[in-house]
Amino acid sequence: MADAQALAGILRRIDGRGYKAYRELGGAFELDGLKLFVDHVQGDPFAAPSKMRIRVPMERAGLDETLRRTRVQRVALADFLARQCRAAIGRLPRLGGPRGSGRSHVLRIDAGGQEVLERSAVVVTDAFVEARLHVGLPADGRRVLGRRAEVILLEQLPQIAREALCAESHSPEEVHGFVECIENQEAIRARLPELGLVAFVANGSVLPRESGASDRPLASGAVAFESPESLEVTLPLEHPVAGSREIRGMGIPEGVTLIVGGGYHGKSTLLRALERGVYPHVPGDGREWVVSRPDLVKVRAEDGRRVERVDISGFIDRLPGGRETRSFRSDDASGSTSQAANIAEAIEAGARGILLDEDTSATNFMVRDARMQALVHREHEPITPFVDRIRELYEAFGVSTVLVMGGCGDYFDVADRVLALREFVPRDATEEAGQVATSHPSTRSREAPSPLARSAARVPESQSFDASRGRRDVKVQARGTHELVYGSQEIDLRGLEQLIDPSQTRAIGFALVRAARDWMRDGAPLHRVLDAVEHELDERGVDGLEPFGRGGHPGDLARPRRFEVAGAINRLRSLRMAPPNDA
Ligand code: ADP
Ligand code: MG
Repeated sequence: MADAQALAGILRRIDGRGYKAYRELGGAFELDGLKLFVDHVQGDPFAAPSKMRIRVPMERAGLDETLRRTRVQRVALADFLARQCRAAIGRLPRLGGPRGSGRSHVLRIDAGGQEVLERSAVVVTDAFVEARLHVGLPADGRRVLGRRAEVILLEQLPQIAREALCAESHSPEEVHGFVECIENQEAIRARLPELGLVAFVANGSVLPRESGASDRPLASGAVAFESPESLEVTLPLEHPVAGSREIRGMGIPEGVTLIVGGGYHGKSTLLRALERGVYPHVPGDGREWVVSRPDLVKVRAEDGRRVERVDISGFIDRLPGGRETRSFRSDDASGSTSQAANIAEAIEAGARGILLDEDTSATNFMVRDARMQALVHREHEPITPFVDRIRELYEAFGVSTVLVMGGCGDYFDVADRVLALREFVPRDATEEAGQVATSHPSTRSREAPSPLARSAARVPESQSFDASRGRRDVKVQARGTHELVYGSQEIDLRGLEQLIDPSQTRAIGFALVRAARDWMRDGAPLHRVLDAVEHELDERGVDGLEPFGRGGHPGDLARPRRFEVAGAINRLRSLRMAPPNDA
């Protein structure tokens, strides 16, 4: 393998030449105890930065073995190290002299936000630790700035490796604290089903965020969460926190839970914390002890979305013109039909809990009160409102609901518990709501024509997933978190509120390519395809999703949940599902 001198030799030789001369860097170099892999060299200074990896042997990195035994530990440790890399990059002094053109001097690592996801940015194995970086090779106009590249590659990258990837530079308390915090969260998450809980919110949690544009905790004026006594549970901790081996907070049991309260009293903020609680959070986030079951799915109305052969007949039946709703298709679904499809699809993908907020729901899907029942006869209303299905979802299908509903008391009759928020403080209002339901009986009648039936499995047709663009290569690109360019299509993912990172979006794009190529065959129903995606992620990690088998730097990828993979498949405009097979 070429060494540092060889690398310096190349850079001196190509100094001042056209930018393409950087191509000579492609390959691997042994630099004073670490390896540098140059996997992709950008074609010009304005293109996406070059992809490089720095790898430190474990003997040199010295990362404590007790931090990297289990999968959860390795994910947490890798996440911690990626954040350390980002911090080390931030500490680098600015180089003097010309600024350089285009992306010159860009140094970036995909270290993520407040959630801790399995991602490709840092990989920890028994043999080494490796960081995947984006490096803008410096140029003056379109000429190679070789001397500067020398500083970046031979000084700055080794410095990042030393400061971020080697144990000697970390405070042991900090790294152990980080990994143990994630382990604690995952241990709680794993125990929720046996405790009969869908989520846990620890006392002292800080749920509100800094602003609509920032996911960091609200710095001042936040009212810390305090569980109502009746819902308080005490859970054991795997690792002690502040000297304690247990943690107390609110347990939300399975079943139907209503969150009520006046406008602006913190309902949606609590629900959003539960949505995000399917992922672990970094210490200090304020929601690190808000832990939800991983199979909770936030559902909203999403008019305009495409729907392909979804059975929404449990919610919507007898549409005008006799339109079929057992295998409903639309290129432009309405608020209520899209919400019904979102629920049916979540259950198909394996959701065990649905999260709903009145703010983002279709009113006619949620409620139909006594007066409306009197005016518009049942025969002329295709919708069975959610209030008449919510109990069945739990009792017949084991699917719990947590619903934010400040505007309609008809739900008191069907709720197992009612949580009332006043000035951000929750109170158990179950009994009171029951009394109200008795003293103010709702005169509406229940409107479920027939029991909710299990839908037939849908079978995606792989030919409808063509990601090639004309004769060009397969194209997959995330535009932010909520838009996925897939071949010649754009998939609108704004309805997937638990999709939180553009690197998940990219991974979903790759998962679709792989799924269509490898796993959608022999009439495999959608849920089996999702199993295959998860199996691949379990076996080979997010790196394994890269569909072109190029190896090396896989780009910025983070693990998506099966629900968001399904969400993207379901929103693909070209998607075709095989007609239901009744035989
Ligand atoms: P609702 O859904 O009940 O109308 P929101 O959850 O949207 O209310 O909250 C309204 C505002 O209050 C938001 O700006 C939110 O950030 C803030 N907020 C929510 N919870 C808290 C809290 N515990 N402490 C301080 N502010 C909060
Ligand atoms: Mg709200």
